[in-house]
Amino acid sequence: MESVLDRDVQYVKGVGPARARLLARLGLTTLRRLVEHVPRRYLDYANFQKIGSLLPGRPATVLGRVVSVSDVRPPRRPSLAVVTAVVSDGTGHLRALWFGQGWLVRALTPGATVALSGRPEWDRGGLVLKNPEWDVLDEEADLLHAGRIVPVYGLTEGLHQREMRRLMREAVSLAAPHMPEVLPEEVRARQGLLPAPEAWQEVHWPSSQDRLDKARRTVKFQELFLLEVGLGLVRARIRSPRQGVRHKPDGELTRALRERLPFALTRAQERVIREISADMESDRPMNRLLQGDVGAGKTVVAALAMVKAVESGHQAALMAPTEILAEQHYLSLRRLLAPLGIQVALVSGRQGRRERADTLRAVGLGYARVVVGTHALLEEGVRFADLSLVVIDEQHRFGVRQRARLHEKGREAGRDPDVLVMTATPIPRTLAMTLYGDLDVSVIDEKPPGRQDVVTVWRRRSERDHVYRTLVEKFALRGQQGYVIAPLVEESDRLEAQAATTLHAELVERYGGTGVRFGLLHGRMRPEEKEATMEAFRTGAVQVLVATTVVEVGVDVPNASVIVIEEADRFGLAQLHQLRGRVGRAGQKAYCVLLADPRTPEAEERLRILERTHSGFVLAEEDLRIRGPGEFTGTQQSGWGLQFADLLADRELLEAARAEAERLLARSDAALAGPILRAVEERWGETLGLARVG
Ligand code: ADP
Ligand code: MG
Repeated sequence: MESVLDRDVQYVKGVGPARARLLARLGLTTLRRLVEHVPRRYLDYANFQKIGSLLPGRPATVLGRVVSVSDVRPPRRPSLAVVTAVVSDGTGHLRALWFGQGWLVRALTPGATVALSGRPEWDRGGLVLKNPEWDVLDEEADLLHAGRIVPVYGLTEGLHQREMRRLMREAVSLAAPHMPEVLPEEVRARQGLLPAPEAWQEVHWPSSQDRLDKARRTVKFQELFLLEVGLGLVRARIRSPRQGVRHKPDGELTRALRERLPFALTRAQERVIREISADMESDRPMNRLLQGDVGAGKTVVAALAMVKAVESGHQAALMAPTEILAEQHYLSLRRLLAPLGIQVALVSGRQGRRERADTLRAVGLGYARVVVGTHALLEEGVRFADLSLVVIDEQHRFGVRQRARLHEKGREAGRDPDVLVMTATPIPRTLAMTLYGDLDVSVIDEKPPGRQDVVTVWRRRSERDHVYRTLVEKFALRGQQGYVIAPLVEESDRLEAQAATTLHAELVERYGGTGVRFGLLHGRMRPEEKEATMEAFRTGAVQVLVATTVVEVGVDVPNASVIVIEEADRFGLAQLHQLRGRVGRAGQKAYCVLLADPRTPEAEERLRILERTHSGFVLAEEDLRIRGPGEFTGTQQSGWGLQFADLLADRELLEAARAEAERLLARSDAALAGPILRAVEERWGETLGLARVG
């Protein structure tokens, strides 16, 4: 029987084919999807403030009439529309500014009643709201909204907040009562949560701040609970007694590699190598997470582990998150291992069919001892002769799904390979344990000696010319290299590529005459072009590489000493930290210039934090503090694809969810678990590789 939840959005009154197309752009195709489209923010219409009583820095919502609206384009940046509205409520005037939203000029007409919500700042002798949430009220809306907390939804071009609210209100009242109950009643009672239908209703249309908080907790808890039940199932499978590979103690090859290293290992590196060796020598399969900040030296640790596998007569594989990184790992491993007589192979999506077949044959026959590739290594067609160690270079992502697949591959071979997951994502140890439970954690908490912090400075766009002139004259013309990162366009890699191309053309035009060579790298280029550019940069033929975030993780060109990041306020803190980790890798003094005219006080604070903080762990904590828990942030970035909860900000909820999940999994009445398992499979089956277990 078809559930109300599966009905097409056109079932909602007022939604025809045209609106349905707009909604589809947001991925909203069914009533269920609509209910799960939670508000981005809320406006508190229960508590309007008088303009005359506003204080700078204190968030407020005001109700007033539009006195005037204008649209100016700053002479320095004619492409940026700045809309200014003056609003009055009889107790005073307030200016509101919006950047880059020129169409607002038509939406806000003088005389209209509007609600504005934001954080007032002092600017040129008066209070100003920058990029406030806004809402034009008409009589009907007044009736609908008076005294309420009102949702603000994510929109797409052509769909207005008011329409969206109206249709969401209708959709939620139709569908929320049918949203499935995920949590057993006793869990809800213990955790003080709402029944699912009520929670979804309140999330969209809160009856009070208190109920809203509860509803949000419920929605997040549901999500985390399902995740933890799913992880629990994976763990149970991995834990079931399984034979691992017993590697030999270090021998000739390991010693030879150590002798070839141009540096002494740090104490932290030695410690984690001991931990890894002990795991590898035991017959229990290793499951270890290797954490270390950017530049801590994880690669050489992985190389030693791989040599240990080879020396014990087996094969080792390394999986990288992108093709570029896979190639880079391949090159550096070959440099280290080929002189020891170890065959290293690259399995790449870019290889021609013939070449790929040859490579796969070498892997299958065991001629290639160390194999590098992307996640494609886990595909059906890739057979190893005798794989005993897999290193997963995950950076931002976690390898749960990959682990599950590996265990399946291991099952085919009758035993489990050892697994080492490397990450620079600074997740606290307790969180790692909550997520993985059985995963052991090794931390490289020390940088190679003599490594200096990257000097980080924030510069306004008005200093942009000066920054580039310095890059060219003081660095590029004096034998140093640098990166220029184009603005981030999260929604479209096409626009991002375009931004990089434009920037590259601008720099070539202005500074090409000096003899400095500029390279261009973005995700839309053909593989051979990318490789050629990287090679030219590596060899120094190109001095400045203009790139998108494709260089974010792992790219290692030791001579690079400067990185300039355009519109740095658009990037996340972790991302900026990764980017700045690309320079100074040979231990030389290095610089990171953040170009930005931040639009909010929070954005400004984030840039200041980067200037003074150089530890990824501290940055993660600061990031959390600024964002604060409570909002629906989700963590798309982390690779988990959480829609409502944030692993870091909501870690207390996560721990509670884990405890409840374990309780559930420990019980024997399958009937109770039935609906929950179905929900888990639906939501996480694919990500966790559960579906196939049936
Ligand atoms: P990450 O942990 O970010 O992956 P890498 O393994 O790429 O870091 O190492 C960063 C740089 O530091 C590389 O150029 C590497 O050769 C160098 N390096 C690694 N360990 C040491 C060490 N103990 N002493 C000096 N340099 C080192
Ligand atoms: Mg690395």
